[in-house]
Amino acid sequence: IKLYQEIEKTAITDSLTEVYTRRYALERFKEEARRSKIRKIKMSLLMIDVDFFKTFNDTYGHLTGDQILRELGAIIKENIREIDIAGRYGGEEFLIMLPDTDREGAQFAAERIRQAVEQAAIKVYDTTVKVTVSIGIETFPEDAREVDELIDKADSALYSAKKLGRNRVCFFGIYDTKE
Ligand code: GH3
Ligand code: MG
Ligand code: MG
Repeated sequence: IKLYQEIEKTAITDSLTEVYTRRYALERFKEEARRSKIRKIKMSLLMIDVDFFKTFNDTYGHLTGDQILRELGAIIKENIREIDIAGRYGGEEFLIMLPDTDREGAQFAAERIRQAVEQAAIKVYDTTVKVTVSIGIETFPEDAREVDELIDKADSALYSAKKLGRNRVCFFGIYDTKE
């Protein structure tokens, strides 16, 4: 049984960042969306993207880039609740589903993660690097109904966060949460 559980865990965990794989995270999101709809409770989705990640790769090399992603996975896991679902969506993009969480709660969670990343001194070999992330938020069922739509809108909120200067949190349709 233990071996089986190990294999199962490996199959659903991203080997670099140790959050869930994209495929498994999306499956879980769909379950949560169904549950929220039935119980008529809110849930929120965060999309996180590393700021200027390409520059880190170009400056320090791809292996250092990987090390940064590994650290980010750990920071994310340290700063979410047991019931939250974190997955690696793409190269340097993460998605986090926050069940039973409204706009305010989502903003609180996103800010906590943003600040934890900003404050972390990420050790890579003999140097430390400073990294920031931008975060887009979308809340269900306030705006979006299906998971695909939630992701689209969180992505568009993330785009606003980038355009407004990065290292910040934005809602879909509401924009910046700083100042
Ligand atoms: P922005 O602030 O606009 O997000 O800038 P950016 O440079 O982060 O954005 P862009 O999408 O241009 O670059 C993302 C880079 O992430 C491209 C690629 O080199 C890097 N990347 C993607 N996946 C991995 C990975 O698994 N490991 C490493 N080291 N780099 C990766
Ligand atoms: Mg990206
Ligand atoms: Mg990026």
